[in-house]
Amino acid sequence: MRLILLGPPGAGKGTQASGIIEKYNVPHISTGDIFRKNIKEGTDLGKKAKEYMDKGLLVPDEVVVAIVKDRLTEDDCKKGFLLDGFPRTVAQADALDGELKALDYSLDYVLNIEVDKDILIERAVGRRICKNCGATYHIKYNPPKTENVCDECGGELYQRDDDTEETVSKRIEVYLKQTKPLIEYYNDKNLLVDINGEQDIDKVFEDIVNILGSDS
Ligand SMILES: [Zn+2]
Repeated sequence: MRLILLGPPGAGKGTQASGIIEKYNVPHISTGDIFRKNIKEGTDLGKKAKEYMDKGLLVPDEVVVAIVKDRLTEDDCKKGFLLDGFPRTVAQADALDGELKALDYSLDYVLNIEVDKDILIERAVGRRICKNCGATYHIKYNPPKTENVCDECGGELYQRDDDTEETVSKRIEVYLKQTKPLIEYYNDKNLLVDINGEQDIDKVFEDIVNILGSDS
């Protein structure tokens, strides 16, 4: 199974990715994770990526593509993969297409988790995190038994600085603007499948399995 997972921040992509990699036994290729690993290990690619990130700049396509290409040639990708956080642009998608052809791989699906912007904002603004153990809550959908106190460890809950309506709204706008051409690109290739991400987590996963099939 060779997949790309798309979805705005807060759509529950991480949860679904975990379910998919477990059920279909494919590696989870997250560009964010690869960057962190390469930087930690001090590889050439990592050094290059760090130069941009330290300046607050986006890592250029050629560096991102090189990192993903490198990862795709590893043995565990022979059984498939789930790409997460890449590609982000049509240029990256084109580059990926070339790399996959060279490796004689083809994509099976591009899963696009859709959640309305207002719902994403409500989810983010109501999120509370435990200072002590990192457990997450939602003031409306998953409230702790005692206000601002973690059920698990009794720690104090806090709201992330960037979980304000304004920041979340901006984050989603940027995502939608950037991803729209990418969604059209994969739609034209008949690879795109929209997933209703506004449902329960379990139902979202059920929909994904219905599309991918139950064989691992
Ligand atoms: Zn806690």
